[in-house]
Amino acid sequence: MILALDYITEIVYDNRNMNRFAAAAVKVIRMLAPAVDGDFDLLGVPAIRVAILRREFPGVLRLCALAVFVALAVLAWGVFAPSGVNAKLFAKTHPSTLLIWGVWWPAMVWVAVLFGRLWCMVCPLELVSAAGGRAGEAIGLPRRPLPGWIASGAVIVGLYALIQLLVAGAHINRVPAYTSLFLIGLLTTAMFAGAFFRDRAFCRGFCPVGLLLGTYGRGGMLAVRPGPRAVPADARTCPSLLNPPKLDSNKDCLVCCKCVQACEPGHMRLLLRAPFSQRDGRQADAPWPVTLFVMLVSGFVTWELTTEWPAAEGIFLTVPVFIAAKLGWPWAAGWLEGVWALVVVPLSMWTALAAVLRLLGARESVGGLWRKMAVPLAVVVSVGHMSKGLAKFVSWAPFLPEALRDPAKAIASKAVASPPALLSLSTVGLAGLGLLLAAACYAVREIRLADKDAHPWAPLPVIVLSGAFALIILGWILQ
Ligand code: SF4
Ligand code: SF4
Repeated sequence: MILALDYITEIVYDNRNMNRFAAAAVKVIRMLAPAVDGDFDLLGVPAIRVAILRREFPGVLRLCALAVFVALAVLAWGVFAPSGVNAKLFAKTHPSTLLIWGVWWPAMVWVAVLFGRLWCMVCPLELVSAAGGRAGEAIGLPRRPLPGWIASGAVIVGLYALIQLLVAGAHINRVPAYTSLFLIGLLTTAMFAGAFFRDRAFCRGFCPVGLLLGTYGRGGMLAVRPGPRAVPADARTCPSLLNPPKLDSNKDCLVCCKCVQACEPGHMRLLLRAPFSQRDGRQADAPWPVTLFVMLVSGFVTWELTTEWPAAEGIFLTVPVFIAAKLGWPWAAGWLEGVWALVVVPLSMWTALAAVLRLLGARESVGGLWRKMAVPLAVVVSVGHMSKGLAKFVSWAPFLPEALRDPAKAIASKAVASPPALLSLSTVGLAGLGLLLAAACYAVREIRLADKDAHPWAPLPVIVLSGAFALIILGWILQ
């Protein structure tokens, strides 16, 4: 809404032949804008302030989430679909696969886009990592600072790609036993990273969703920021090695509120604000790990969107399916599809977009253009991810009551009836189209805010990718 107001205001002001109607519209816009655009400090709400200032915050929340993680890992341990049961349907009936892949994963994408790294506030992995750190100190392990190349996010890109490859090739999202191993793997890595490295090393260098949360959550509406009063140096008590008095981005802030607890009231704020605040810092050129992450996820999300429209998925997967058939390796089809979606498609798509931009006069190298495209395209990709997440959630969530009421029965059943989805695919598609339109506007605005001298054709990749996503989502509605 703010974006629309900004645009209308600018268009009207730019127009020298502004008529009386437009002048009136400007007045209304100017009256409304401050009310809508204002930041709201949640610490001004007594109940929230009291809760956040308690020493137990956010540890208690993380402990509860850890109990759920462990329970789901135990429940899924060694469980495979009974023979004759469709693996995908079985995954929807098992509480662990259902809650992890059908609820938590899509919800994390939505929460990240809307509220930044809010999930990090309750994440159990940080708790386990901190416990690993204390255990390491207790037994005298020499805990080192995280090497720069790991802190840059290079390992995270690899781990995220590995998880998506395992989803494509081994279907870890459909097999409870593999989901259990996935959870145990996360908890174990968090503990060892904490034991061997200092300063929230797992979050900064190993958490597989760290880049997703930091990239998707950049424009999130929840943010820890310094207050208007001068913030003293004692606020520099950030376990993530950030500088809270100068914080101007959601990218690395885990919203743990330790800086809020460490200083006087009014020095740090927990803001609820409009998306993509103009006051945030911006980089025109994304770092390489972020660029590679957005590239990879753009291909993966394109594939995910086509899965709701079988004809489109058939076209998308033509090449890897053909190769698997030619080689006579049906077992490799899923892995080839993963490599196709995560590597070949994004590389081809981004190279083609960069080549067109160069033909249109951009002077940067192909790599330089990829870095410029990454942040605006992340806005579009994140909304594509949200749309697919919603489609998944509305079809998986109806299984939840039965799965929670009597998991043993659901697990043993070979003839699980599919309850109707919470929303029709057409409704989800319409919501997705609306989100895409908003995302495309925000992405174009991000280009301009990050670089006032951006190339006139810089929005082209945003338009192409939003158009491609919109076409696929339109297929959901019309098929
Ligand atoms: S960065 Fe990852 S491990 Fe750390 S709090 Fe966030 S989600 Fe949890
Ligand atoms: S800046 Fe504050 S809220 Fe953010 S991670 Fe550091 S201590 Fe936590």
